[in-house]
Amino acid sequence: MTLVRFKSGSYINNPEVLHLADKIYVVGHKSPDTDSVTSAITYANLKNALGMKEVVPAAAGDVNNETKFLLDYFKVPAPEKLTDATDKKVILVDHNEMAQAVDKLNTDNIVEIVDHHKIGGIQTGKPIFFLNEPVGATGGIIANLYEQNKVPISKEMAGLMMSAILSDTVLFKSPTCTPRDKAAVEKLAKIAGIDPMKFGMELLKAKSDISSKSAKDILTGDFKKFDFSGTKAGVGQIEVMDLKDLAPKRGAILAEMNNMKDAEKLDMVVLMLTDVMKEASDILFVGTAGAAAGFEKAFGGKISNNSIYKEKVLSRKKQVIPPLEGAFKK
Ligand code: MG
Ligand code: MG
Ligand code: MG
Repeated sequence: MTLVRFKSGSYINNPEVLHLADKIYVVGHKSPDTDSVTSAITYANLKNALGMKEVVPAAAGDVNNETKFLLDYFKVPAPEKLTDATDKKVILVDHNEMAQAVDKLNTDNIVEIVDHHKIGGIQTGKPIFFLNEPVGATGGIIANLYEQNKVPISKEMAGLMMSAILSDTVLFKSPTCTPRDKAAVEKLAKIAGIDPMKFGMELLKAKSDISSKSAKDILTGDFKKFDFSGTKAGVGQIEVMDLKDLAPKRGAILAEMNNMKDAEKLDMVVLMLTDVMKEASDILFVGTAGAAAGFEKAFGGKISNNSIYKEKVLSRKKQVIPPLEGAFKK
């Protein structure tokens, strides 16, 4: 095996990793989304192709409807579920915050991180490979790593990475989308032999089908915890084609948000009800009076009927977390 140095991504075929006899799990965040699950699968596949057979994909929870649809389409098996990381070596993909990571994870057992989020405070005891790029999805970063390591991308892996980008960027509409994401989708779609926009709509439909979902499923399906200068928050998101579909469940969702706030001892629970066609979000809030003041400051409005409606807001990462972080900064 050749080891190419001085090039981003060259570490990933570092012989040091090859010497680890233990199984290494590639795993995304809790409430796994398509990018988390497919990044685990495609990155493990790349590692395997580079000779690291001990690397296996995992998911930190049940896969969602969109991911199920995608895996069925490409006939790729769902990864094993990993919900307790005691004594497990892991490569984190699509997250880098302990609050979002699989339970009982020891930071000394983190072998690598490949992500596209803000840096969220994980501390390790020794140097690790940490690749974080401000692009629309982890999938595009991994596609690059295939290229850099000259590993051919199969039709299936191309389909998964392409779908991760389409899903995370909401078909390129999210402000997190970069020209690199579009270029990657174009390339991957050719390998997968798929019309990306048509397929992206199918993904969106699968994701936004809430007919069989309870209020609790809707709240926890894509839910992340944050600490805003001591204010403990949970921020979820549900993407639908039409907000009207959610209206009948609004009361039950708010009740679940209150339950969650009490059970998890949070100061606030926020849920973005995102209309991907209108490109807007109705941002639901429950929480303490202090948290409410911070929430209103963050979004420059008054909470009415438990929410603030924001046009052009699609991205939790870029349009919801940063203003909240700013509003609570001491
Ligand atoms: Mg994700
Ligand atoms: Mg992602
Ligand atoms: Mg997302």
